[in-house]
Amino acid sequence: MKTSAYMDRLLMLLLPMARKKEAARLGDRAWAEVNLSNLSHNAAELQRVLPSKSRIMAVVKANAYGHGSIESARELSGAGVAHFAVAEIGEGIALRKHGIRGDILILGYTSPERAPELARYRLTQTVVSREYGEALNAYGAKLNVHVKIDTGMNRLGVPFPELDSMMACYRFSHLHVTGTFSHLSMSDSLGQAETRFTQQQLSRFELVIGQLREAGIDPGLVHIQSSYGILNYPEVCCDLVRPGIALYGLLSREGDEVRTKADLRPVLSLKAVVTQVKEVKAGDPVGYGRNFIPSQDIRIATVSIGYADGIPRSLSEHGGYVLIRGQRARIVGSICMDQLTVNVTSIEGVRQGDAVTLIGQDGAEKITAGQIAARCGTVANEILSRLGSRIERVYRYD
Ligand SMILES: *Cc1c(COP(=O)(O)O)cnc(C)c1O
Repeated sequence: MKTSAYMDRLLMLLLPMARKKEAARLGDRAWAEVNLSNLSHNAAELQRVLPSKSRIMAVVKANAYGHGSIESARELSGAGVAHFAVAEIGEGIALRKHGIRGDILILGYTSPERAPELARYRLTQTVVSREYGEALNAYGAKLNVHVKIDTGMNRLGVPFPELDSMMACYRFSHLHVTGTFSHLSMSDSLGQAETRFTQQQLSRFELVIGQLREAGIDPGLVHIQSSYGILNYPEVCCDLVRPGIALYGLLSREGDEVRTKADLRPVLSLKAVVTQVKEVKAGDPVGYGRNFIPSQDIRIATVSIGYADGIPRSLSEHGGYVLIRGQRARIVGSICMDQLTVNVTSIEGVRQGDAVTLIGQDGAEKITAGQIAARCGTVANEILSRLGSRIERVYRYD
């Protein structure tokens, strides 16, 4: 008896672990399937369209655009990527604590008070101005930095005409400058005026790099292209490129024309489950605010995902739908924090526990993050990076 009670307890402890993989697929509330094979494929594909000298600096900020920064960086490391970029110091420290090697560049500002952590975790900091460089240098121990040049975006960086300030950034005794970079603000557009502006940014950058070299200053690794910079200006030959959204298999706006054809494959699918199915009579309201009142008798399925998980609340008003049993089901009524409701009247046999696809493929039907973004007037980057922390990430290879 004793033994069997012990065995029961052991089983109770072990069973959930054994079933975890399965549970993550069908026992959970909402989850994202992250196809790491597609992530490495996209890295290789970007590398293919670039000059062989250009190396990828994978942008894994904002939890790798919602894909999970540790797992994504680990996968890319395995695929030969040796440079990473994050937005802020906490993201860089997390990568180091999980054993990610190689260079990690912090693209944003870090308070100089945190210089000891920059050193301790061997993070490369962006120098955004001469004054900032001074403050970092005052820490007194060697730090690796990249100098950021503002070539026209007017966000971060030393303005390109301020050559003296710029050169000063390379002469701080404790700052080891291992790179120099800028950022394009219009490379996603192929219009004439936009292309001219990008060309201007590119030539300003080239000019600055030339001036530095003439003054006997080594700019280190130079880089200026993010995803659209790579796809629209692949001939620009820098040491590094900084793809974000393209690594995750998407463009910011799905319909965008780009000059380079690359076979990019979406990495993330988003799933939830049907938690209840019910018949609703014509004229009966559904959800908060009675925002949806069917004109005929319909069948409604409740789905276990909401705006706190990153589904834009406005998606309901803009014709958003989900996939159940390979078919489309319109989102109806207001999207709630943790749940939403869909019309499944025309789908046979929907029942509790059915998988629901919010992003991804189900049979012949497919929904992309780009489509959701288009409906809600934003970019795929925002849809992905706002996926909530409650969404479990399930990693797979195909
Ligand atoms: C976010 C970011 C990137 C990556 O941009 P994508 O458009 O997603 O490729 C590159 N460089 C900088 C400075 C960034 O902030």
